[in-house]
Amino acid sequence: MKWSQFFIPTLREVPGDAAIASHRLMFRAGLIRKLSNGLFAYLPLGLRSFRKVESIVREEMDATGSLEIKPTVVIPGELWKESGRWFSMGDELLRIRNRLDADFVLSPTAEEAFTALVRDELNSYRQLPLSLYQINTKYRDEVRPRYGVMRGREFVMKDAYSYHTDDASLDETYQAMGRAYRQIFKRCGLSVIPVRADSGAMGGSGSEEFMVESEVGDNTLILCKECDYAANVEKATCKEVGRRKEEGGSVLDTMPSLEKIATPGIHSIADICEFLKCDVKSSIKTLIYRTNNKDIPFVAVCMRGDIEVNEVKLANLVDASEIGMASDEDAKRLCNASFGSLGPVGLKSMPIVADLSAAAVPVSVVGALEDGYHYKNAVYGRDWEAWKVADVRTVKAGDLCPHCGGELYQKQGNELGHIFKLGYKYTKSMQVSYLDEEGKSQIPTMGCYGIGIDRTLASIIEEHHDDKGIVWPMSVAPFQVLIVPIKYEGAAKEAADTLAAKLEALGAEVLLDDRNERPGVKFNDADLIGIPLRVVIGDKGLANNPPQIELKKRSEEKNQLISLENSAEMIYNEVRAGLACPL
Ligand code: ATP
Ligand code: MG
Repeated sequence: MKWSQFFIPTLREVPGDAAIASHRLMFRAGLIRKLSNGLFAYLPLGLRSFRKVESIVREEMDATGSLEIKPTVVIPGELWKESGRWFSMGDELLRIRNRLDADFVLSPTAEEAFTALVRDELNSYRQLPLSLYQINTKYRDEVRPRYGVMRGREFVMKDAYSYHTDDASLDETYQAMGRAYRQIFKRCGLSVIPVRADSGAMGGSGSEEFMVESEVGDNTLILCKECDYAANVEKATCKEVGRRKEEGGSVLDTMPSLEKIATPGIHSIADICEFLKCDVKSSIKTLIYRTNNKDIPFVAVCMRGDIEVNEVKLANLVDASEIGMASDEDAKRLCNASFGSLGPVGLKSMPIVADLSAAAVPVSVVGALEDGYHYKNAVYGRDWEAWKVADVRTVKAGDLCPHCGGELYQKQGNELGHIFKLGYKYTKSMQVSYLDEEGKSQIPTMGCYGIGIDRTLASIIEEHHDDKGIVWPMSVAPFQVLIVPIKYEGAAKEAADTLAAKLEALGAEVLLDDRNERPGVKFNDADLIGIPLRVVIGDKGLANNPPQIELKKRSEEKNQLISLENSAEMIYNEVRAGLACPL
């Protein structure tokens, strides 16, 4: 392929809204252009790499035995009403209406579409397990699309869905998908951190997220310095230290008795601890949350003073899809006290959730449910009780690993892929069934497995670039070899054309910079678009005996002079070596 006949609009300027390297480089190297907020067009060079990532994903999916299908992107709203997500998903779901006034959604994910297809075809246990996938456009009306294609509104996802007669069969496919994902990311030259989430709302089912480290990552990862514990902060737990209620009566008896003290004008945890000269770890703060579970419209949450609530854990615990802090007016109406004076002693107007940390404080300072007063020496199990004692804390760096007790630290990361045992959530709500060996009707269990193609591509650039441009791994490079004649004329032109033809005949993907530009411009562009092997052909080298050309890897500083004769075979061997070892 000749550069002049390809469309590579490279740029020197960086778009103002490009905050991360991959976003800047995808623009500058002419891989993408923005159509609108969160909507991008891939240009020819970008699309070549995009297709390569897709192919790697497709090969590894096929190798698991999953079968590719191609449903539509526009999905009947009816199916989403059946699953309930039409109502629960919120504004990320783009709902549309056709000329007959029928509801549709632009698929943000496809559990409903796949499950509806399977429901219509599934009769017997003999058809299971069944694993299907697509590599297809998704649309999510993200509130804040950002970082280019990392978080767009329209993107391409590989999503697979599997259906099984039992947990063992689901686990087999889940494990195979996990292995395939590791292989996909390895082939793309990506270092991923698999983050297991062994507990969750789905009840004992498994889930694993594949994260890449990123300063601007949307996920906080909690990792252990001593063992391989890694969890998303939404799910992370830690070892609790301190007294527990189960320690029982004799401990309670030795505690000093509850004491009410005037604390005029003191509202914050920091101020009350300062006033009473006590450690923040012996204080308990009480927060009130609103929930959309109509059985529990409000819930009080008690946390040790220095620990923050994890709203994902809390929402799961109270079985709500949305929660938020109640207003001060709500607090006054329900508790007769404002925010700074809330506490669990005598609180009857709503259920209390005590975080494990709060139940573990031996004697604590708490608000007295009366403005201007606090209690000293409040003891859980003696002075107050909770509806539920559970882990609803946000784990942070410095907490202790739940597995080995080692110190936890945190990193920011981006999710590239997710595998998930869904269980019966969709197969039940959408009434999928099959007949088992005894002719009895059964509901299949289900798994789902997603990878974002665009985000994977952007992450490859995040991991493989320098200050001059992209440094593509061979496996996903838009072209494998870039031939740069210093001047595309005379002997250099002839040598370049011949080498390109030979390399292409061997099977290499070659871009030939035939532009009439200064060498400096060509070299800068070469570094920017990041083709793994660069061959420079100039009259000087060709005048040597035997004639020589220069070969340079994009990932290395040094270059080598090689003999023009047999150079095609030698360069092609480098291509093959690069393909075999992407990292
Ligand atoms: P995130 O927490 O980043 O929003 P998610 O949990 O919503 O991700 P899933 O629903 O698990 O993501 O989707 C599977 C994959 O699709 C993600 O791992 C990611 O690679 C990709 N993906 C999700 N949202 C976007 C987006 N807005 N732009 C690009 N890729 C996305
Ligand atoms: Mg999301």
